[in-house]
Amino acid sequence: MFPEQQENKTKNNLYHNHDSFILELFLMYFKPSNYVESLLEVNFEILKKQGTNLILLDLDNTLAPHFTKIPTNYAKTVIEKIKAQDIEVIIVSNNNELRVSRFAKLLDVKYLYNTKKPFIKKIRKKIEENGYKLEETLMIGDMIIMDIFAANRLKIDSLLVKPILSYNVGSTKKMNWIETNIFKRLKRDNLIIKKNSVTMNLYDKEYEIF
Ligand SMILES: [Mg+2]
Repeated sequence: MFPEQQENKTKNNLYHNHDSFILELFLMYFKPSNYVESLLEVNFEILKKQGTNLILLDLDNTLAPHFTKIPTNYAKTVIEKIKAQDIEVIIVSNNNELRVSRFAKLLDVKYLYNTKKPFIKKIRKKIEENGYKLEETLMIGDMIIMDIFAANRLKIDSLLVKPILSYNVGSTKKMNWIETNIFKRLKRDNLIIKKNSVTMNLYDKEYEIF
């Protein structure tokens, strides 16, 4: 190859790499640290050993379907498994006070309602009020554009869990469309990875974009 051709090729690559870099950064807002299909797969003992002391847990479609007013056996089992490892749970939901408080009280866990995820102001305050640090906190939820986006803005680890129901009552058609397409895109780029041990990485400092 002539030097000139070589130079052009490098230039093209540079432009191409620049585009994918921007896209990659964009996708990093939505990349979960890990993915599971059910919370029963999670080894909370390992999470505790890795330094997780607080779990921020989404309610609707993560812990229970929207229409269940009292905790299901699944929800009870998950909470018991987390508590058994001496990890604190705070239910962090965008739903209203009545819905969230009733559920949380029956499970005997703390809660935050009208959270406004993916905004993070209220969540950060709640973490601080309870005496935890960001690095010992893990966010668990079923929605990339709410739960995972909030976690990445807080720079904390996140676990994406497959929604209990395939539809999301609380979100609009447009939001569901965005959610589905971001998921597909992340999956295609191998950014949704189910790690065998269900362990988290420390938050990936390489993408400090906030
Ligand atoms: Mg949810």
